[in-house]
Amino acid sequence: MSVFDDLVGQDTVIEQLRSAARAADGLLAGSGGAGMTHAWLFTGPPGSGRSEAARAFAAALQCPDGGCGHCSSCHQVFSGTHPDLLYVRPSGLSFGVDKTRDLVLRSASRPTGGRFRVVLFEDADRATEAASNALLKAVEEPSPRTIWLLCTPTAEDLLVTIRSRCRLVTLRTPTTRAVVDALVGRDGVAPDLAAEAARASAGHFERARALAGDPAARRRREEVLAIPARLDGLGACVTAAARLYELAEAEAKETTGALDEQEKADMRAAFGEGSTGKGVAKAVRGAAGALKDLDDQQKRRATRIKRDTYDLALMDLVAFYRDVLAIQLGARVELPTADRDADLRGVARSSTPEATLRRIDAIMECRRRIGANVHPQIAMEAMTAALYTG
Ligand SMILES: [Zn+2]
Repeated sequence: MSVFDDLVGQDTVIEQLRSAARAADGLLAGSGGAGMTHAWLFTGPPGSGRSEAARAFAAALQCPDGGCGHCSSCHQVFSGTHPDLLYVRPSGLSFGVDKTRDLVLRSASRPTGGRFRVVLFEDADRATEAASNALLKAVEEPSPRTIWLLCTPTAEDLLVTIRSRCRLVTLRTPTTRAVVDALVGRDGVAPDLAAEAARASAGHFERARALAGDPAARRRREEVLAIPARLDGLGACVTAAARLYELAEAEAKETTGALDEQEKADMRAAFGEGSTGKGVAKAVRGAAGALKDLDDQQKRRATRIKRDTYDLALMDLVAFYRDVLAIQLGARVELPTADRDADLRGVARSSTPEATLRRIDAIMECRRRIGANVHPQIAMEAMTAALYTG
């Protein structure tokens, strides 16, 4: 078992990170640590696991055993509670200079118990220009025991001056084969189902895992993919948008509901709810404040999960129209939505490649608007209308 086990189809990257983690000992010993450096940039398409790779590397750097996956240090990194891991995931569209300066300041202090101070900055492309300049200074003159792990979709998403100081880790979309092997070998999924899920998710491993493991997720995907062929008037567009909204809300609720309840139950148990005696009244007051904090955290997480869920539905639609385009252009490629063959061919026959490209643009515009806090149902109504008119 190792912290790198969950990175599917990334053998080259795993080898690179393993040897860097070994070389990190040299950095600690002050002998330079060839192969190790203070700033790393993880890039890769959505679903390739760039932040998972960065997190595994963070664990390997802190673990006395190079990322064993079962010591307390590894657990702390994975649960986000390691005292020397600064974990940043911007919740908004941009990450400002004040927050970045604060981060730089905190990153510079000596590790409290771990081997390094590790900053894991997801979506570092959201740093504003001023924030990027603050980041550049930190990357240019790193503290001896501080390691920066930045994640962006592509290397071009970062200031060239920062990029040039980072060692690049490039994740690729895993092959369908690698995804199937992982689903069958690790999760015990039946080969047929694994193959279907791997194709449908186009190399997005976590998505494939969800589809293979959850019949409800498969049904929701089917419903989303049935939408294009049903858009025969503006009434149908409104209905389809409302349905898309419902589906995403239901999926998000399913994901968050169980987690929320468990966390609340754990916290109540920790505060000794139901017990009696001296000190209980005081404990109950403390519990109320802690529960309120937990509630706020859970709300923020729900918002993020909802956004991710809309994104999944929209990317399924993009996949559908990309397959339509492939058929229209006569491209011989694997079609992730081949299970909707009749719909694909129907839409391909009744439209032009130009119209298909406009439709894909309309879906991407919808994603952008939801990201900018437009009400999802309104953004989706505009999108389905654009999909209808072409
Ligand atoms: Zn470990």
